[in-house]
Amino acid sequence: MKIGFVGLGNMGGPMALNLIKAGHVVTVFDLSAASLTRLVEAGAAAAESPAAIAQGDVELIITMLPAAAHVKSVYLGAEGILAHVRAGVFLIDCSTIDPRTAREVAKQALENGNPMLDAPVSGGTGGASAGTLTFMVGGSSADFDRTWPILAAMGKNIVHCGDSGNGQVAKVANNMLLGVSMIAVSEAMALGVSLGMDAGVLASIINTSSGRCWSSDTYNPFPGVLENAPAARGYTGGFGTDLMLKDLGLASEAAQQIGQPVLLGAFAQQLYQSFSAQGNGSLDFSAIINMYRKDA
Ligand code: NAD
Repeated sequence: MKIGFVGLGNMGGPMALNLIKAGHVVTVFDLSAASLTRLVEAGAAAAESPAAIAQGDVELIITMLPAAAHVKSVYLGAEGILAHVRAGVFLIDCSTIDPRTAREVAKQALENGNPMLDAPVSGGTGGASAGTLTFMVGGSSADFDRTWPILAAMGKNIVHCGDSGNGQVAKVANNMLLGVSMIAVSEAMALGVSLGMDAGVLASIINTSSGRCWSSDTYNPFPGVLENAPAARGYTGGFGTDLMLKDLGLASEAAQQIGQPVLLGAFAQQLYQSFSAQGNGSLDFSAIINMYRKDA
């Protein structure tokens, strides 16, 4: 398939690379010349703007951008995709943004004659490189079925979550729970260790008992419990505190729009906010345990 790809950062770069490896003809654009060059060396054609991609010979355009403001400008701006793309070209936005913006942009795309899906991902940069991402997809069933093979070249679990915006709903709900559960595991681990328990023994009890969860058995925040968790390497190379903060912000914003209480989500947001304000925004989010550890 002839595919345009806009946004070649930590996630979009390896995702576009996997499309090339799968045999697709890929045209790319990013504001960063270095990111563009990496993809061109791997076999992509470079375009000069999102508008140039839209005007080119493409059947599908994928975007992977930092936040809602970038998504709006790339799709809705005067030099954006919708102003230049021909009717019938499919659009997929994989950025993590709020459900309301995702629905607004998809609505305008459809009025323009372009079916659009929101398809945020989980699985991190490792999953993006390995092609094992989970895609949470919002949009019509027919559009999901048509684009599924393309997403399958970049991911392992491709889940249709319902109508437009529901991919983002699944993403914010899951990440809010993750943010909260990591704080709960941190609190329990720090309490147990302060009361004299060995961290590894405590984790093994939790992981075979009713407190078991992903934050404990796969990503335990206490150093030394798991060899491959970010806690074992000074909380580097994982999911940054500021990225978690962004997702908690999206969850509380979405909750506010519909008057839905998210008490623990709001508390978690404030805790990560304090941790980030102390200069820890680039550390993996499991470093939040340092807010609890007396020895840290
Ligand atoms: P990133 O900052 O590494 O990459 C974003 C890219 O978009 C950059 O290369 C930037 O130059 C480019 N860009 C920004 N504005 C642009 C524009 N107007 N036109 C063209 N290119 C533009 O971010 P990332 O880590 O790749 O994350 C992308 C999205 O994926 C975010 O929404 C993030 O929340 C989400 N996400 C990230 C992870 C992760 O682990 N990094 C995991 C899941 C989801």
